Amino acid sequence: MAIPIITVNNLVKDYDNFRAVKGISFEVHEGEIFGLLGPNGAGKSTTLEIIETLRKKTSGTITVAGLNLDESPDAIKNIIGVQLQASGYYPGLNLLQLVELFAGLYNQEVHAIELLKTVNLEEKAKAKFKDLSGGQKQRFSVATTLINKPKVVFLDEPTTGLDPQARRNLWELIKKINAEGTTVIITTHYMDEAEYLCNRIAIVDSGEIVALDTPDNLIDHLVASGFERPKQVKNANLEDVFIQLTGKHLRED
Ligand code: ADP
Ligand code: MG
Repeated sequence: MAIPIITVNNLVKDYDNFRAVKGISFEVHEGEIFGLLGPNGAGKSTTLEIIETLRKKTSGTITVAGLNLDESPDAIKNIIGVQLQASGYYPGLNLLQLVELFAGLYNQEVHAIELLKTVNLEEKAKAKFKDLSGGQKQRFSVATTLINKPKVVFLDEPTTGLDPQARRNLWELIKKINAEGTTVIITTHYMDEAEYLCNRIAIVDSGEIVALDTPDNLIDHLVASGFERPKQVKNANLEDVFIQLTGKHLRED
């Protein structure tokens, strides 16, 4: 049985006269990877930031792990993991120091090296954040979401701008975190990523949810409606060529 860990009911967000989120409702189930997909400006980040308690909603009700957002925002903050923007890291500190700093802020005991190991960055423990590659920065920022051992992790476009290998490395990291029991909500513009990672997907357009289902069901519904691809798809694509030629597993990102 699917147990809801997040419920969003009739969520509305107005920015002045502009209604960015138009009364959406959905549930995220405990233990799943839930995707929010949609074009730029659809309202994905707004929705996530409201659930993360970082942005005020106009109306609607939200609960996270049984906690009402209006009544218990601080309790919610304690059980969720949110990725910081890169600008949130002190550039002069190394990764160990940053982990210690965050652990202090969260009032958590953390084994910093172990945490860096989980994201394959133990060799970079003494490196400064600013000296990491794009993929390493993203993996580090995912690591920081885990410091308070959250029940739910929010990842807003974690793989945007990464090269194919770094993107795949991050996919495996997200799968691992999820396999260890953490619910994940992710936004992405990469459909292959959503198909690979997500148990269920909500497609958001202009502040409304236009579909919500498993990737398989979404595809089956489209096919059942008579849709056909205009031409036969090859058994590989250009990304496969790139990965084959430049090495999927060997390369450090
Ligand atoms: P997405 O993450 O899906 O790209 P956002 O949630 O960032 O979409 O934005 C949804 C809409 O709300 C967009 O039209 C955006 O321009 C608008 N918006 C986002 N943040 C603000 C803000 N702080 N003030 C005014 N409008 C905003
Ligand atoms: Mg966004």
